[in-house]
Amino acid sequence: MTRLLLATRNQKKLVELRRILEAEGVAGLEVVGLADVPEFPEAPETGATFEDNAVAKAADAARATGLPAVADDSGLEVDALNGMPGVLSARWSGKHGDDQANLDLVLGQLGDVPDERRGGAFVSAAALVLPDGTETVVRGEWRGTIIREPRGANGFGYDPIFVPDGETRTSAELTPEEKDADSHRGRALRLLLPSLKPLAG
Ligand code: IMP
Repeated sequence: MTRLLLATRNQKKLVELRRILEAEGVAGLEVVGLADVPEFPEAPETGATFEDNAVAKAADAARATGLPAVADDSGLEVDALNGMPGVLSARWSGKHGDDQANLDLVLGQLGDVPDERRGGAFVSAAALVLPDGTETVVRGEWRGTIIREPRGANGFGYDPIFVPDGETRTSAELTPEEKDADSHRGRALRLLLPSLKPLAG
């Protein structure tokens, strides 16, 4: 079994990657998280793009542990805000990780924006860095519309105000399985599979 480090403490992300590998018939990779390896200093996310942040996180993890490492960075790009909050999604209101304040600020900013200009996308960059420094980075996007009133209790972040294209429900009203099947992160992780498969031993 080759150990593959997913540079996250989020149990849901670990389960999601394991499920995608299983669905694709990739055996021989044991996905572990940051809680399963000796602690190392984690640099703050200061990159200008999702790709920069994902590669930096994966490279730090690979260097510190000697394991092949995957990392992702994600956020919401709103067309009417010229692609913001973007890489600042988690701290848009000024408070890192305050999902409600972040979402309320975006809704306020879009108050006067008409329905036909409320498009946006969840974006995820996923990077794989090997112990020899080889880097692969991919991007998954999930387009949709920013609605005016939050709906739904599943998910996190901006899910209650995002209706994916082709849906009437918000991504907070989808089941976790429905969300994984379509989401930006699921798409990005599946795009990494051709680089992950050769690692399975
Ligand atoms: P991170 O990539 O885990 O650091 O997430 C960055 C931020 O983007 C989160 O705090 C959320 O605000 C937002 N975000 C990323 N993915 C999603 C999603 O699937 N649903 C809702 N919000 C998301």
